[in-house]
Amino acid sequence: MKTILITGGTGFLGSNLCTRLINEGNRVICVDNNYTGRMQNVSEIINHPNFRFIEHDICEPLSISDEKIDQIYNMACPASPPAYQGSYAIKTTKTCVFGAINMLELAKKHKARILQTSTSEVYGEPLVHPQVESYRGNVNPDGIRACYDEGKRCAESLFFDYHRHEGVDIKVIRIFNTYGPKMDPKDGRVVSNFICQALKGEDITIYGDGSQTRSFCYVDDLIEAMVRMMNSPADFTGPVNTGNPGEFTVKELAEKVIAKIKGPSKIVYKPLPKDDPTQRRPDITLAKTKLGWEPSIQLDEGLNKTIEYFKTELRRLKEI
Ligand code: UDP
Repeated sequence: MKTILITGGTGFLGSNLCTRLINEGNRVICVDNNYTGRMQNVSEIINHPNFRFIEHDICEPLSISDEKIDQIYNMACPASPPAYQGSYAIKTTKTCVFGAINMLELAKKHKARILQTSTSEVYGEPLVHPQVESYRGNVNPDGIRACYDEGKRCAESLFFDYHRHEGVDIKVIRIFNTYGPKMDPKDGRVVSNFICQALKGEDITIYGDGSQTRSFCYVDDLIEAMVRMMNSPADFTGPVNTGNPGEFTVKELAEKVIAKIKGPSKIVYKPLPKDDPTQRRPDITLAKTKLGWEPSIQLDEGLNKTIEYFKTELRRLKEI
């Protein structure tokens, strides 16, 4: 049994990770300020004797003195473009930067291994396709995505400096678009928007002409990659891409969702937000080689599971 601290533990990915680690017999300390996380996401484990929730904003230092932490997954950050481009913009950069420093200091104190959930957004509008880890990216430092993209890039640099200068045992993964149960229906990302719109019989909102591409990874595959990376040999720090290399246009995704839900919804076109990346697909050769990992759930199967989740969730919220 390990004691594992997860920041962002009530968020979409964090809560899926908490559940998995509790089910594997670990002690889990879930830290979140619930800005974009939801207590509902940890409702099944909240009373588990090995689960502890601490309401805390990682922009402030965190001290845990009553137990020794073995591993930290640093996942706290608004991650949906509408969240970080809106009122959370400055908070997003602060969470990335101050949060990384505070969690690296905690890791140093506890001699804990710490994994940073970085992002495909470090590649910005990529000029290399598919994206390999050695590609340094094409980010607009002044644009509306910069609070997240540059914040996450700065967090990566802090992780590598704490590793080089302070000897902290680090791991860095770059997460590509991920979807699945425990997503917030209101979060504004493409998979949750399209499924919720279709379930409610509303029109499906494509931003731009829908020709932009994304690669969608089902959450269970992503969590498996995270756990493998955390427990990989110390000399492999990453960064390593974690995502599903299947690439789809946003229009193809809309058509799939409409075909599966078969409601009255029609596609409507809305303006494309600024700096929205044109294409995105991970090269996962490094993850395959170093972690023996590749996704096993493809988009059709993952969408079916996610549609079932949203049906239950929207009924619970009395929205359908
Ligand atoms: N998108 C869309 N309709 C929506 C939400 C998003 O067409 O209702 C597009 C968005 O402009 C982007 C892609 O879907 O091109 C993925 O958006 P998301 O917010 O899920 O994540 P991103 O990859 O941009 O971080």
